[in-house]
Parts: sequence; structure tokens; C-alpha cells
Amino acid sequence: MSLLRVRFWGTRGSIPVTIAPDAIKRRLVAALTRAVGRGLDTPERIEAFVEQELDFSVRQTFGGNSSCVQLDHGGDEYVLCDLGSGARAFGNHVLATRGGRPGTFHVFMSHTHWDHINGFPFFMPAYIPGNTITIYGCHAWLEEAFRRQHGAPSFPVEFAQLGASVRFIRLEADRPYDLAGFRVTAKRQHHSGDSYGYRFQRDGRTVVYSTDSEHKLDDPAEATAFAEFFRDADLVIFDAQYSLADAVSIKADWGHSSNVVGVELCQLARARHLCMFHHEPTYDDEKIAAVLAETRRFEEITRGDHTVQVSAAWDGMEIEL
Ligand SMILES: [Zn+2]
Ligand SMILES: [Zn+2]
Repeated sequence: MSLLRVRFWGTRGSIPVTIAPDAIKRRLVAALTRAVGRGLDTPERIEAFVEQELDFSVRQTFGGNSSCVQLDHGGDEYVLCDLGSGARAFGNHVLATRGGRPGTFHVFMSHTHWDHINGFPFFMPAYIPGNTITIYGCHAWLEEAFRRQHGAPSFPVEFAQLGASVRFIRLEADRPYDLAGFRVTAKRQHHSGDSYGYRFQRDGRTVVYSTDSEHKLDDPAEATAFAEFFRDADLVIFDAQYSLADAVSIKADWGHSSNVVGVELCQLARARHLCMFHHEPTYDDEKIAAVLAETRRFEEITRGDHTVQVSAAWDGMEIEL
């Protein structure tokens, strides 16, 4: 049984962001203050101190690329969810590791909002003859959305000039397909213009990719339907763009969900791991870390006989299943 590895290339919601310029100085001051009197006189000691004693939000960043997640089942073909700006980093990684050998890419699109397609014009494998890219999605305008951003007046290269063979395949929701080495089922979600979640199954393992979805748990039929979609999943990658306070007040009906809804759905579904994804662009690393801590606490105090592991995705994170 091959390992299933999930790699996050882009985890930010709505628009790519970078770490704020003044945050670097703040972090240096925080780190150096903690280091005073610690006798950190070799690179090894410094490395261990950084790794073990500094908080994630001091030593690292959740990152700023928009949605792109890779499901790696160990085969030669690549499987992705969405082509946000993280696809640029993924494409460059492929070129660096694969050399000139042609590759096959399968991409499952949640929807065509800009933050989910804006990496494609910078996805280098699309420019290389011999590569094959299949883009799956449920929207009628799937192909048009990609063609429209790729060419004048928005981009210097026309879609028709791409060297790779690119094709689009429409999927129907609620119907299982055998594609790209997985059993794949799509489900329609509440979002402006609709979005689709995907349930991927292979070798007895299940990953759900559910981003850009506003869940209304006060509707019991809907809560049950999503709990079934998430049922017994090993990993649920979940749009938890907002903290609960934001979700129920100013940002109700903005098309996204909260950390708390994610926990409740995963508990109902008896899913094993909730990974918060599509982070709010105005949240800095400290805020995302605080939401993660709050979510873990909420999971703990509402836990019955089933534990849900909670994490927050960052660009470069890998989860092995
Ligand atoms: Zn989005
Ligand atoms: Zn969206």
C-alpha cells in the first residue's frame, strides 16, 4: 500500500499575501530577547533553540500563496486541487526535480474565482510541449474562466500559445468517478457562483478537499449531507477563513466558514483530522496561530468519544496518511 502524501503549495484565501515588512523586525526582537543569556554559541545550538523554543509564528509563516494542494500517491502522475498562486511554486518544483521528462497533471477545481486560477499563467509546465494537463470541474464556464485570464488585455501570452496539451473535463456532482488514481466524488457547496468539494478515496484512505464553502449548520438536512460527505475521512481540508466571531457577525454570507463549524462537522462525520485552510488574508501569523489554539481548545471541550486532530495548513506543509 503506497503512502498518500498531501502537500500544501498555497493555503491563503482570497488573494496572495506576504508577511508584513515590520513583522520581520518584531520577530527578530522577540527571538533575540528569548536568546539572551542562553549561551547560543554554535549554529547547531541556535538551530535547536529556534526549532524547539520559538513559536511557529516567530520562526516561520503560514505563507501567502493562494489555494493549491497536491495529493501524491507515489505514482508518476501529479494530482492537484486548484491552481491558485501556489501552483507557480509547485510547477517550479516539478521542473527542478523532473528535468525535461514530460509529465501528466490532473487538476480538480473547486471553482473559478480568481484566487483559485491565478497561478495557472505562471505554471511553467503549461508552456512545455509534451506535458498533458487535464482540468476537471463542475462549472459550465470552467474552460472559459481559464481562457479569459490567459491573454490580452490581462496577460501577454494567449491560451492558444501554451505548449502543453490542456483539456477540460466537466464532472457531475454526487457521482463517483475513477480518475487520476482515486475514486473521486464532487459535492456542490454554498458560495457565490457555487463551489465544489471533492472526496478522494484510495487504498482505504480518504481525503476531503472542501474550500470556499459557507456551511449553514442550522439546516439539519445540509449538516447531515456534509457529515456524510466528510464521513470517516482521514483528512478534511476545510475552508476556515474566519474565526467564529467574524463568521457570525460581520462576515455572515460572505461565502466562507469558521473554525468552529469545521470542528462540528468533523465530529459529526467522525473524521480524524481537520486541517484549516484558505486563511483570511488580513490575519497575520500570530492571529492564525491564535485561531488554531482556540480551535484545538474548542475540539477538546466539545469532544465526545471521538478525537479530531486539528491543524492549520501552511505553505510547504506535508501530511502523510
Ligand atoms: Zn477562494
Ligand atoms: Zn471563492
